[in-house]
Amino acid sequence: MTKKDTTKHPCFNKAEAGSCGRVHLPVAPKCNIQCNYCNRKYDCVNESRPGVTSGVLKPFQAAEYMDKVLEKEPRITVAGIAGPGDPFANPAETLETMRLLNKKHPHLLFCLSSNGMGILPYLDDIAELGVSHVTITISAVDPKIGAKIYSWVKDGKVVYRGEQGAKILLERQLAAIKGLKERGITVKINSIVIPGINDDHIVEVAKVCSELGADIQNMIPLKPTQDTPFAELPEPGRETVLPLRKEAGEYIEQMTHCKRCRADAVGLLSDDQSVALCGTLQACSK
Ligand code: SF4
Ligand code: SF4
Repeated sequence: MTKKDTTKHPCFNKAEAGSCGRVHLPVAPKCNIQCNYCNRKYDCVNESRPGVTSGVLKPFQAAEYMDKVLEKEPRITVAGIAGPGDPFANPAETLETMRLLNKKHPHLLFCLSSNGMGILPYLDDIAELGVSHVTITISAVDPKIGAKIYSWVKDGKVVYRGEQGAKILLERQLAAIKGLKERGITVKINSIVIPGINDDHIVEVAKVCSELGADIQNMIPLKPTQDTPFAELPEPGRETVLPLRKEAGEYIEQMTHCKRCRADAVGLLSDDQSVALCGTLQACSK
């Protein structure tokens, strides 16, 4: 396997954010849970938040798109899959994309972002394909609080709701951190800060995840989105998030430069090209 410089990830290493870019390949449209803040729509509008993409690609199209992106933006060092659903609700597409990239662009770092529900059967594949960075989104480590955040989780064909669903999800998420660390993979925890729901619990999330070996936490303020149960909640400001980061920073390193990127983000974090490259993505998806 090609030896890679794993420091060249702009999200996990702020020092590289001005010189290294990332691309999100939107090959994973389905999701296996429903978060109460999520509204996925496929769009080409100038809107930046997770779940938004101007198209969905098949794995071979993602590989072709990657070739074109690298021609236009050679500063890309990371290829990731972050939806617009969950990579492991679409495991065949996710792994096939990683396999193709591993063949064509082995110098790139590979990164996956998941809710953790479906990842456990694929930990060995992830390691063998040279994925160096994985993000698991964990916003609660107590099923009572989780039950307020997730409307349902799906395991195969069975749908679980309430605390039962939140408990199953949490068990898998915590096992995922442990399993990824056993395989030498860098793990980031994304935690959505949701006022009145988990803001007084999020430091506990930091503590528990750090005990399992997670490397860094990224607290993302809720972006209230239309047509979701959390649409009317306020968006937490710096006065809420900064003290939480300070407190949680006692347990685990904090990411402070996240841009809440689209599922088809591309370029430097400070200079997202996704809308500019929207036509390229759409051309590859035909
Ligand atoms: Fe949306 Fe991601 Fe939650 Fe799935 S895991 S519902 S894609 S935010
Ligand atoms: Fe990095 Fe945050 Fe964008 Fe993910 S959403 S690619 S962590 S900046």
